[in-house]
Amino acid sequence: MKATKKNAKIGEIILGEGHPVRIQSMCNTVTTDIKSTLAQAKSLEKAGCEILRFGIPDQESIKALSEIRKHLNIPVVADIHFDYKLAIASCVVADKIRVNPGNLGGTDRLKTVIEAAKKHNTCIRIGVNAGSLEKRFNKIPIHEALVHSAMDYIRVFEEINFENIVVSLKSSDVQTSVKAYRLFREKSGYPLHVGITESGSGEEGIIKSAAGIGALLVDGIGDTIRVSLSDDPVREIEVAQKIVQAVGLRQFGPEYISCPTCARSNIDVISVCKKTKESLIDFNRRISIAVMGCEVNGPGEAAHADIGLAAGKDRILIFEKGKIVERIDNTGPIDQIIELFVDRVRKFK
Ligand code: SF4
Repeated sequence: MKATKKNAKIGEIILGEGHPVRIQSMCNTVTTDIKSTLAQAKSLEKAGCEILRFGIPDQESIKALSEIRKHLNIPVVADIHFDYKLAIASCVVADKIRVNPGNLGGTDRLKTVIEAAKKHNTCIRIGVNAGSLEKRFNKIPIHEALVHSAMDYIRVFEEINFENIVVSLKSSDVQTSVKAYRLFREKSGYPLHVGITESGSGEEGIIKSAAGIGALLVDGIGDTIRVSLSDDPVREIEVAQKIVQAVGLRQFGPEYISCPTCARSNIDVISVCKKTKESLIDFNRRISIAVMGCEVNGPGEAAHADIGLAAGKDRILIFEKGKIVERIDNTGPIDQIIELFVDRVRKFK
């Protein structure tokens, strides 16, 4: 059973029940290098980043963040470790601070940080990480330790009536992360920042993130996500949008449905898909587009999509909203067929 969900407010963004899953990332520049950090932050904002985090290792970084945020239209998050004074000062400039309460120097210091957040209306992410769990949790499974640790910190926040909280329970292991978030959701309704930390680079990191984050989102767990890749952070946004779209929670662009092709195929599905996507690279409408190779599942899938192509032996059928709108001779050049299909997609109403 899930706990009743609560909301959190980060700038103008609300996380929680009835609100969309938000996509976030983190700048990997040195925050005090304002020019480079702002350039990256702007690229991330343009790519669709909705909440953006910055590393704050010193006071100079807080000053830099206060300058950088003037040029952004999305909430900014200050990421602080070890220094509770930096956390307090960051509450003045950031919409949210991300702390690991275990490394701020004790409960009294944590309480002063919470009071500062309360005063400045700043959200706090309680970030518990498998790599920095307290020794007292050594004898229980890591996913349980993550949850116990977060719940202990939450009690401190609640003692002083602070509930503008987001929680993350990070591990680089997919199963540990998924188990931890599921267990937490049974016990607490605070919004969750979901991700697989240090998931790596390239395809491996993307698949790991998709497996973990996707499993949780399908369960209705996760209010904001970050895909952690050893890559350009703009790539994190692209991947995160694809994960959220794949589980049907939000749509950021067209959804492609295509068959894997086989001996029955009456068209080169792989080329048609590739070239159609390339031709529609600038096309952002949130519609479904199907490309199917034969009569077996083709007409059904093509008819269920907003617009679809199903190849028969002699004729290619184009469907729009379930109705056949065009029959094309399947003996003509493939590029001409793709051109016609792309034109139909662009004009789809
Ligand atoms: S739709 Fe037809 S061509 Fe495509 S995989 Fe299925 S059977 Fe094969």
